[in-house]
Amino acid sequence: MLLLVLSNLSNMESEGIVIRIKTPVGDMDSPVDSPSHLNFNDLLAAIRDAMPEATVTAFEYEDEVGDRITVRSDDELKAMLSYYCNTVMEQRFNGLLPEPLQIFPRAGKTPGIRNIHGLKVNTRPESSSGRSSSAADSRSSDSSLKKSSAELKKILTNGQINEHDLQYQEQLGHGNGGTVYKAYHLLGKRIVAVKVIPLDITVELQKQIMSELEILYKCDSPYIIKFYSAFFVENRISICTEFMDGGSLDVYWRIPEHVLGRIAVAVVKGLTYLWSLKILHRDVKPSNMLVNTRGQVKLCDFGVSTQLVNSIAKTYVGTNAYMAPERISGEQYGIHSDVWSVGISFMELALGSFPYPQIQKNQGSLMPLQLLQCIVDEDPPVLPVGQFSEKFVHFITQCMRKLPKERPAPNNLMDHPFIVQYNDGNTEVVSMWVCRSLEDRKAQQPQRLM
Ligand code: ATP
Ligand code: MG
Repeated sequence: MLLLVLSNLSNMESEGIVIRIKTPVGDMDSPVDSPSHLNFNDLLAAIRDAMPEATVTAFEYEDEVGDRITVRSDDELKAMLSYYCNTVMEQRFNGLLPEPLQIFPRAGKTPGIRNIHGLKVNTRPESSSGRSSSAADSRSSDSSLKKSSAELKKILTNGQINEHDLQYQEQLGHGNGGTVYKAYHLLGKRIVAVKVIPLDITVELQKQIMSELEILYKCDSPYIIKFYSAFFVENRISICTEFMDGGSLDVYWRIPEHVLGRIAVAVVKGLTYLWSLKILHRDVKPSNMLVNTRGQVKLCDFGVSTQLVNSIAKTYVGTNAYMAPERISGEQYGIHSDVWSVGISFMELALGSFPYPQIQKNQGSLMPLQLLQCIVDEDPPVLPVGQFSEKFVHFITQCMRKLPKERPAPNNLMDHPFIVQYNDGNTEVVSMWVCRSLEDRKAQQPQRLM
């Protein structure tokens, strides 16, 4: 018997275990690579991350007759793992698949909801990102301990989505490299947007992309699209984000200045947030500005993963028409290049047509480089003064200065009179305009024959 327990312990060590944390917002499963290195404080820290408003000082597990046993120390944790190990052994002996180890946090106060997306996490990572036990074994005990708790924390605070938990509904759009779908997430009971990008890349590169995307978990701003999860299935990556029922701004026609002003405030705040995290957007354009019927405006598709951007770029060759002159000429890219793209985007949204008439953007925003040479060679276009306010014309002119250093820096952008004027938190204006535009669009669609 002792031998069996010992061999089971080493099985657990090489295969890892799954801990299921029972919280009021649902079960949260997390793989732990190296259970023998897990300590009480790390597990508690992970639980507290998931339930920040609760005072969790201990947790419980259930024994074979359903009695709850409290765990408050490393020794008690070891006893729990040893008990769990016996249970797994019995389950295997009876030909059953082992159940995750269930723990029940003991909360002093009503637990808060950190898992804001209401997502349940999957018990195992996707096979393509799965780790081999030998690789896990080869790591030092310290690093595997660190990884386990980091993994726990990440998963507990964000949740994950699996392909089989999604019910695809309709296609929302198609861009350079990906197709975006509206889908229903069964476990989270909510609509999400899923961008599916076919990528023929190695598993190593897939892992690198996944790790580069990790920063998205940390992005938390009302002006940035909420990231839920990303996963690889076969040769495609799916990126799940918040769904915006108003879609992107590229399909709206000539947005009035008082609405555009409020949208510009949100875009500048979103970019300022990204810049504060040292993230450059790199793809500011109307199709990456999303709106909803609540009047919210959020940025999406910012380039956090160099590998992902490079892998897509291998398939889709062309230069983005919203890119700053210095970028078109292959010079260095910085915050100021994002500022140019803000200027040209808002000019287009105000005019209802691309500001350089010689550039015909028939399909998407990617163009052969030589067609965009006029952006590098010519003086930037200016909004017609009679039709727009002086503040707005000045804002666009400043953003579209040819020399990057002459464009407003982040702080100056927020302090620009055009932004100050519309920084009144009035989401109603945008909300009413989105709702009306959607109704108009619906009315213009050909009526179905009965
Ligand atoms: P690019 O690939 O160069 O970024 P794009 O932005 O037009 O071009 P996608 O990012 O693939 O292409 O998006 C396609 C369309 O899907 C968008 O134009 C938008 O209308 C829609 N879309 C994208 N994300 C969402 C979302 N979260 N909610 C609602 N609609 C979305
Ligand atoms: Mg996009």
